[in-house]
Amino acid sequence: MKRTLTCIECPIGCEIEVELEDGKVVSLTGNSCPRGKIYAEAEVVCPKRVVTSTVRAENGEMIPVKTDKPVRKDAIFEVMQKINQTTCKMPVALGDILVENICDDANLIVTGNF
Ligand code: SF4
Repeated sequence: MKRTLTCIECPIGCEIEVELEDGKVVSLTGNSCPRGKIYAEAEVVCPKRVVTSTVRAENGEMIPVKTDKPVRKDAIFEVMQKINQTTCKMPVALGDILVENICDDANLIVTGNF
């Protein structure tokens, strides 16, 4: 099976072609640097994304948050459910952890000072 991906590791956006056999990468072409190879191998085997969202503070304000590491794409729904159940007390600061280990060793952190 062949898959064509656009690398999202930098603005160049190389088009990378990956060939898989039995779920394993057997060839990879089109990347201009090693970061593209790492990205494409991970993307075809276990794609991950940083999740960004908001959490409602106790005063009703919506606080922007994100995971501090990418989490598996197939776990994003579960992560969003946890985020929707989360509240926080004010004030909060950039990098404060609201939920430790929300998924895949990633924490949910605040992305500003409020
Ligand atoms: S392969 Fe390298 S140069 Fe190409 S988009 Fe990815 S990071 Fe950028």
